[in-house]
Amino acid sequence: MSRYYQQEIETASREKILEIQNEKIVRQVRHVWDNVPYYRHLMEEKGLTPADIRGVEDIHKLPFLSKADLRDAYPYGLLGTDLKNCVRIQSTSGTTGKRVVAFYTQHDVDLWEECTARAIVAAGGTEEDVLQVAYGYGLFTGGAGLHGGSHRVGCLTLPMSSGNTERQIQFMMDLGTTILCCTPSYAAYLGESLAERGYSPEDNRLRAGIFGAEPWTEEMRRDIEAKLGIKAYDIYGLTEISGPGVAFECEEQHGMHINEDHFYVEIINPETGEVLPEGEKGELVFTCLDKEAFPLLRYRTRDICVLSRKKCSCGRTHVRMTKPMGRSDDMLIIRGVNVFPSQIETVLLNEGYTPNYQIVLDRERNTDTFDVYVEVSANQFSDLMSQIQKMEKNLEGALRTMLGISPKVHLVAPKSITRSEGKAVRVIDKRKLHD
Ligand code: ADP
Ligand code: ZN
Repeated sequence: MSRYYQQEIETASREKILEIQNEKIVRQVRHVWDNVPYYRHLMEEKGLTPADIRGVEDIHKLPFLSKADLRDAYPYGLLGTDLKNCVRIQSTSGTTGKRVVAFYTQHDVDLWEECTARAIVAAGGTEEDVLQVAYGYGLFTGGAGLHGGSHRVGCLTLPMSSGNTERQIQFMMDLGTTILCCTPSYAAYLGESLAERGYSPEDNRLRAGIFGAEPWTEEMRRDIEAKLGIKAYDIYGLTEISGPGVAFECEEQHGMHINEDHFYVEIINPETGEVLPEGEKGELVFTCLDKEAFPLLRYRTRDICVLSRKKCSCGRTHVRMTKPMGRSDDMLIIRGVNVFPSQIETVLLNEGYTPNYQIVLDRERNTDTFDVYVEVSANQFSDLMSQIQKMEKNLEGALRTMLGISPKVHLVAPKSITRSEGKAVRVIDKRKLHD
């Protein structure tokens, strides 16, 4: 039986959702026009006024915003209300450059926390649960977002923040954590650390995990589920739009439902900006329908995925997005071939390796060098010496089949690749140093 945090809206008919979106977008465009001169100028450049936007079917006329606009307008240029009405800032983790600062009124915090509460309930969360937040607290949205949602659901919230693995494990075991929230890479690390301390998955009370903030593969999901003895749910979001909870997985685990009553979504061709029909792969673009302080319209996320409106057996009617397998700017171009780190992760886990790896790119005599360092597990390690070259060759072959180009694989000792407590650093690109 599905449970919902806000059943009426989560299971509303398509017509009802459209009606809400149409009403909100008209109000929101007027709000932005009146309060955000930066965007008003962009609209004027296209000859638009608020009167041109009569519903969501007109959204495609509006100009896009990109991360570059956010940097240009830093810090207050896209603020939609007086600072005195704001109660919070959060900031991106700066994975791909200068940090972006987002502002929130109390209304904006409330709607964001409702979204994370929906995600927690979709993962089976109730007031009976002990929910451990091991996302970072502070400027990063992970900690604050899940913390707020957990309170709303009424879970006993453990505000651990990231890091201090020893203490995470102690609290998890002593207080009987049932739901764990953190990045997938940290969940894998916690699983590994529990095993090292002699715990088997049955020893903990964990039931579910809500993991996101970075790309992760289905193989990684299975690895975490086995290590922790849980069902692992995906959650997606970005600071610019609010934070985690823009979309979340239900028990069906076939894509993440986007909270369409707050965020209007489009998929575009990243090269041309053309809006693509449902089912086609492209870049996600979000319009905040009712945020006050940071009301971004048509924000280009650079996250690549596919949308589906197929009926979901959980009863939720909101559109689903596939797991973004990397941003358009995560894509590596190595010797002219497009490579996503997630493709490498898939091969490694399928071949029985750990998800601890690092990709190192460099340039030698005008040619890209492509090295993949992969940790072996302790049991693989014992008989490794005689086998090492053979295993490396096999893995190189499997990677070549997936990628179309051949990396040099280096199997390395257990624990030699630095673990991440937040978002994992998978790529070290030294080529930029030579440009
Ligand atoms: P930064 O851009 O500095 O990483 P954020 O911390 O706001 O800033 O991260 C948002 C980005 O994280 C998203 O745009 C997306 O690329 C990635 N992300 C978030 N959740 C997921 C997820 N579940 N799967 C894949 N990628 C995700
Ligand atoms: Zn569903």
